[in-house]
Amino acid sequence: MNISGTALRDLHRIHKQLTDLRGRLDRGPKQVAASEGVLRRMETDAADAKEAHKKARVASDAKQLQLKSREAKIADLKTKLNTANSNKEFQMLKDQIAADQQANLVLEDEILESLEKIDQLAAKVKKAEADLVAAKAETGKVKGRVEGEQANLESELARVLNELKEAEENLPTEYKADYARVARVRGEEALAEVDGEVCGGCYQMLTPNMMNELYMSKAVFCKSCGALLYLSEGRGVGE
Ligand SMILES: [Zn+2]
Repeated sequence: MNISGTALRDLHRIHKQLTDLRGRLDRGPKQVAASEGVLRRMETDAADAKEAHKKARVASDAKQLQLKSREAKIADLKTKLNTANSNKEFQMLKDQIAADQQANLVLEDEILESLEKIDQLAAKVKKAEADLVAAKAETGKVKGRVEGEQANLESELARVLNELKEAEENLPTEYKADYARVARVRGEEALAEVDGEVCGGCYQMLTPNMMNELYMSKAVFCKSCGALLYLSEGRGVGE
């Protein structure tokens, strides 16, 4: 029984469509997962940035408290200077005041630095929060798009599967089993267009006998890869 090149070309086209549809159906959820991964990372980044900012403020506040309490102590020591009972005590108080003033100068520098750092960390928080908002919007967009696409792809898949069933039913009965066995394992690679005199699936050179059979519209399976072969458009007899 003969098998037309057109029917096999059609069958191959259907298989290729199925591969494409399944690939796209598979990709959608992966894209959603990837954008959710980005979102989770942004959430962590924003939380980390807030925590670092908070810690820096707590540390800076502590230094400012320390500065104030030492200033109070200096003021207290200064009043004590007026009531010093001896030169020795006076000198000791003066030394203590000088030492505390020196320590406060260092502390003031540290506080300035800590305030600069707080500004930088606040900018980081702002950026992380903006990134998070953008990531949330992007994830929502991806989800919406994929959900819409999945529904279309599912119905397209059902339609093409139906087409496949019809095309397979039209295959000559004696080749159905061989074809079905290859199709189950190889999907779209169950068929291959003949390129010159070479199998388009595995690039194996075909024998003159196989070429003759193809021109006679016989079913020919590649001896190397097992694909059901067909001639390209216009090469078949009567096309
Ligand atoms: Zn082959």
